Amino acid sequence: MRTPRLEIDLDKIYFNTQTLVKRLAARGISVMGVTKAVLGAPEIASVLLKAGVSSLGDSRVENIKTLSRAKLDAQKILIRTPMLSQVDEVVANADISFNTEIEVINALSAASLRVDKTHGIVLVIELGDLREGIMPNDLGSILTKIRRCKNITIQGIATNLACLSGVAPDATNMAELSQLANSVEATLGSRLRIVSGGNSANLQWALGGANIGRINNLRLGESLLLGRETLHRKAITGLHIDAFTLIAEVIESKTKPSQPWGVIAQTAFGEKPPSTSAGHQSQALIAIGRQDVDHSGLYPPPGIEILGASSDHLLVDSGDSSLAVGDKVKFNVNYSALVRAMTSPFVHKVMKQKSTPIDKPSLSIK
Ligand SMILES: *Cc1c(COP(=O)(O)O)cnc(C)c1O
Repeated sequence: MRTPRLEIDLDKIYFNTQTLVKRLAARGISVMGVTKAVLGAPEIASVLLKAGVSSLGDSRVENIKTLSRAKLDAQKILIRTPMLSQVDEVVANADISFNTEIEVINALSAASLRVDKTHGIVLVIELGDLREGIMPNDLGSILTKIRRCKNITIQGIATNLACLSGVAPDATNMAELSQLANSVEATLGSRLRIVSGGNSANLQWALGGANIGRINNLRLGESLLLGRETLHRKAITGLHIDAFTLIAEVIESKTKPSQPWGVIAQTAFGEKPPSTSAGHQSQALIAIGRQDVDHSGLYPPPGIEILGASSDHLLVDSGDSSLAVGDKVKFNVNYSALVRAMTSPFVHKVMKQKSTPIDKPSLSIK
């Protein structure tokens, strides 16, 4: 098998998803499976659907197209507001898109009219994390304008917290979203299908016994794939945190002085060189780099310590584990390392299900 490779255990993803879908269903909350970290990989999307997610969400229209081409029987939702330059592609491939700007909604309306389709929108509301969203006070005026847009239907409202500012979903901001759902419905005179409270950072709130109010959906990515909640990155009890493992190969192994010599300026990435102790160390060079992975999000096996990385090389102190040229080293990954490894065409993706490997050497990137 080729290296470097990301081994993807589809059974573990299935188990994580089914577990969270069931726990949330007991609270009246459906799950939108978010596939952006895996570039909309149809094999993974189909596992999420089998495990019970009610729809698929992705932030990139390219990934939504990948899902479209796979002809999965699922509602597809673009969860980032569309670029004006992409509205035709959005209408052609997504059933619903998340929106915050009237210009974009007008353009989606025009694009939908051109192809005689109806496009659904979810209005994203800013509740303090200061990434995307309509300010609650501006909701009334944007609703008036949207009601004039032909071929656009308002499917729901949503908010997104814990991303840019780390604002935690709690009883206060979730109650505000519920109350806004009521007031939007009063204005429209119809019921909203979706009231989406947030992402994997909402799990503690949703499963903690709080009053969930009008919230009937969460959009989950990281918790399904890596088994962690994202407020404190704690493993969720009972879930697998190792559905993805990265395997890379040693190309040099030597004992070298632990201190560099010569005049010290800056490194390839403009950082200060790592500070190391005196003496010698067993160091191994592994053929994977920053172009392929965020090395700060790699968890090496016990006894091995990551010293640094450049574009194409990862340097580790192999301690007493004496790595030899040709050895394969297995790492666990965090979300950041996962996203970059999925996106690198140099990292092969190997899907495994019920001990039968489904080799997908090139998940093509469009
Ligand atoms: C990425 C994303 C999600 C999923 O977040 P996770 O932390 O992976 O669960 C949900 N909503 C939006 C808008 C996103 O961009």
